[in-house]
Amino acid sequence: MNLYQMIKNTKDFAMLEKECKNGTLSQAILLQSKDGFYASEFAKLISMLILDNGNACGACENCKKVVANAHPDVKKYPLKDKLLVSDSEEIVAESFIKPIFADKKIFIVENFDNSTDSAQNKLLKTLEEPTKNVYLILTCSSFDMVLPTIRSRCQKISLEKLSEKEISTLKLDPLAVSIADGLVGKAIALSSKRNLEEVCENAVAVFCDLKHSKNVLAYAKKILDQKNDLPLTMEVMSFVIEDLIKIKSGKGELIKLPYREKYEACQGDYSVRALCEIALLLNKLSKEKLYNVNFTLAIENFLLNILEVKYLCK
Ligand SMILES: [Zn+2]
Repeated sequence: MNLYQMIKNTKDFAMLEKECKNGTLSQAILLQSKDGFYASEFAKLISMLILDNGNACGACENCKKVVANAHPDVKKYPLKDKLLVSDSEEIVAESFIKPIFADKKIFIVENFDNSTDSAQNKLLKTLEEPTKNVYLILTCSSFDMVLPTIRSRCQKISLEKLSEKEISTLKLDPLAVSIADGLVGKAIALSSKRNLEEVCENAVAVFCDLKHSKNVLAYAKKILDQKNDLPLTMEVMSFVIEDLIKIKSGKGELIKLPYREKYEACQGDYSVRALCEIALLLNKLSKEKLYNVNFTLAIENFLLNILEVKYLCK
């Protein structure tokens, strides 16, 4: 199954399809997803739906042009990394110009929550009273960062995640699929990451192989050597903690990462309470990363804390 087929099978899409066929589809749609890639592909499919009068067949000229990102009546914004006032002004002006190829015109504005208030404000009137046959599809990672006045003028859809099972039919790295947690764009990006396995193994080693404080510096160094991947490392660590808790509470069949043997070998070192405590410490570590404190020291402390919690557990 390809991604478009998967999107077509979602409840979110079925609802829009029905509205499109009934002629009740909103001209202003705000899609929310933590996965920017997915939201963007979803917006493309809605464009097909609109231009193909509720079908999104994938085979007609309108659909083919949308898939190839080459439809003259589907305009994508922002032009640079975030929507600027000049982009919004262009959208407003363009919305009054007749479509060229199809009988409708669509503006897709991605990452709308990254734009400034003034850029958002410029679109208010267009969203409130769009020109006939003009549609605006906005995507955001969170509704909260979109102005309430904009939100209230749009049909808001919080896109459901895809299941791991569905994503795995795309033939991606299974490790990437597990970590992506239902975010298909993330699964695709992680799949092409050459050091993914190494990052994961470093994160698992901290829990399963680190036994003595004299080794803390060496383990910390391995993690810090992959500096650009620190957020991912911490994310994987949180999955490891969850997995260990699952093993400890007899739900081993639900573990996420493929390190069962390692988990089984070290799970005796931890109590569930200790793991919960370590999860809190990991949370603190992520915040420290965010506020740019001396992260080398923070990581070393974190590893020492794991050893201490483990020791107290015994
Ligand atoms: Zn079509």
